[in-house]
This record gives sequence, C-alpha cells and structure tokens, in this order.
Amino acid sequence: MPSTGPTIADLLATGGHPTMSFEFFPPKDDAGQAQLLEAIGALEALRPDFVSVTYGANGSTRARTIDATRLIRSGTSAITMGHLTCVSQSVGELEGAIAAYADAGVTHILAVRGDPPGGPTAVWERHPEGLDHATELVRLVKASGDFCVGVGAFPDGHPERSDLDLDARVLVEKQEAGAEFAITQLFFDADAYFRLVERLDRLGGSLPVVAGIMPVTNVNQIERFATLSGADLPASVVSRLRAVADDPASVRAAGLELATDLCDRLLAGGAPGLHFYTQNRSKATAEILATLREIPPHA
Ligand code: FAD
Repeated sequence: MPSTGPTIADLLATGGHPTMSFEFFPPKDDAGQAQLLEAIGALEALRPDFVSVTYGANGSTRARTIDATRLIRSGTSAITMGHLTCVSQSVGELEGAIAAYADAGVTHILAVRGDPPGGPTAVWERHPEGLDHATELVRLVKASGDFCVGVGAFPDGHPERSDLDLDARVLVEKQEAGAEFAITQLFFDADAYFRLVERLDRLGGSLPVVAGIMPVTNVNQIERFATLSGADLPASVVSRLRAVADDPASVRAAGLELATDLCDRLLAGGAPGLHFYTQNRSKATAEILATLREIPPHA
C-alpha cells in the first residue's frame, strides 16, 4: 500500500503555512449522511489540508467510520485520516481495522486509546487480547503498513490523571514509537497549549502539535464539551457567554469571537496547524476561518 503525495507530517514540516483541517464523525442514518455531505461540500471550498473521521468508543462504528473515509476520499482532494482506538478490540480485530483502512486507500491513522466504555471518568480495562495504551497502537499501526500516524495530546491534562509531565513523557514515547504529529483535545486557553509545547520541548520531543478547536455556539454545549473532554473552562469564557445567555444570536457571536481570538493567538505563537471539531456542520468553522487575522484560508 504505497502512499502517494505529501503526508500530513510533510505538510507540517515543510508546507510553509499552518495546516487547516476538519474532524467529522460517521453518520448514523440517511439524515446524518446528508448533513455530513453538506458540511463536507461547504468546507471543501476552504481547501483543508486534511480531514479526519472519528472512531466510535468501542469500535462499534468501525464499518461506518471506514465507509465515511471512503466517501470523503471520493468527494474531496484533502488527505483523509481515520481514527482508531484500542477499546473492546483484540489485536486481531485492530489489525482487521487497519487492513480495512488500507483497503479504503486511507494512509493516515490517528491512534488514540479511546475512553473506557463507561465514559471518560470510568476505570480503563484492556480487552483480554488487546492493547493498554495508544503508544502500543502506534507501534501496531506502524508495523502494519506504510501509514503516517498521529496521536492525541491534552493541553489541560488527560482527564484520567492530572499529571501534565506524565502526559508530555507519553507524547515523547509516542513519537519514539513512530507517531509523526499530535492533535490536541479541545481547549480554551492558548497559554495551556503553549505550556504543553514547552514541556514537550524540554523533554526533547519534536512532534508538531496541531491545535484542536471547538467552535462553540451555545452555553450548554460549552459546559458539556468541557466535562466530557476534561478541558478547563476559564471563568472569563463562561462569563462572556453567560452575559448574553438570553440571546442565542449573541451567544453564538461571542462563542465564535472567542474561538477566533484563540486561533489568532495560537497562530501568532507558532502553532503549526488548526484542527476544527466541526460536529458535521460547516457554518461556524467557515465563519471563524473567514475572520482569522493570520493565514488560512489557503490561496
Ligand atoms: P493514552 O496515550 O493511552 O493515555 C491514556 C492515559 O494513560 C493517560 O492518562 C496517560 O497519561 C496514561 N498513560 C499513557 N501511557 C502511559 C504509560 N506508559 N505509563 C503510565 N501511564 C500512561 N476517542 C474515541 O473513542 N474515538 C475517537 O475517534 C477519538 N478521537 C480523538 C481525537 C483527538 C485529537 C483526541 C485528543 C482524543 C480523541 N479521542 C477519541 C479521545 C481519547 O480516546 C481519550 O481521550 C482517551 O481517554 C485517551 O486517549 P490517548 O490516546 O491519549 O491514550
């Protein structure tokens, strides 16, 4: 399965501009499929460097995820990356998923462990014939073919333990295992991102860390996302949204302004790329990209 064209790692190393990318989740039904296609169509016009498709918590969306990567590959010119998790799957099943990606022409995999089936705060349990950590999954993917592999990173710390130094050491291990870039969990404070990059740098890690951006358009959504992801929700962000809570249009405008400011600060500080959690919708992401002071959209 030879890969063709530049990889995401190549673009991050030599592309000459910050990458811009979008994350989608696999649709559940025909209505979801229509929504995904509409979002992809609208965002394709912004010429993303890559798009990615999430993998259901217990591997349950495996077929839908791989089908979605195939669909996106046929409809866009962007590099398409599939996510893969260790949850509730044996090594044999993981090898099957990696082979299915190869068969779909997908040469990029985001290797994450996945949250425990009981939710992000439940105790992690390895499948009896499976893997314990994302680092092992990186090794498995690299040993299975010519894949460019990315991993997750956590500016506010991984929710399971708040040990920022351990998280940085884990990122270095992932790089040693063959990972070529990282994408962060959503976060709201640019300084948390820069501190993560500094910790990595101090340990000699050189993985480019793409910033994961969640465009937030309502107050309940931001609190739910922060709880699920373990992201710190700065008081300034909450108060800015709560101040206009009675007017959905103002909340949306404030949410997009906060995200735009965050992107501008990240790019000004040298972040190598922005990865938007689109929720399979295009409008909020497109509006943020249209108002960024620095770089993307691409010429
Ligand atoms: P790991 O790197 O294995 O880390 C898990 C925990 O173990 C951490 O606390 C870490 O500090 C600790 N740890 C790791 N290695 C060691 C070690 N050697 N010794 C001691 N402790 C160690 N989830 C999905 O289900 N599907 C998706 O598609 C998906 N996409 C994601 C995309 C991004 C960009 C990100 C950031 C996350 C995504 N997630 C997804 C969520 C992710 O699966 C969870 O956050 C999961 O809990 C951690 O994944 P990880 O890859 O960081 O795991």
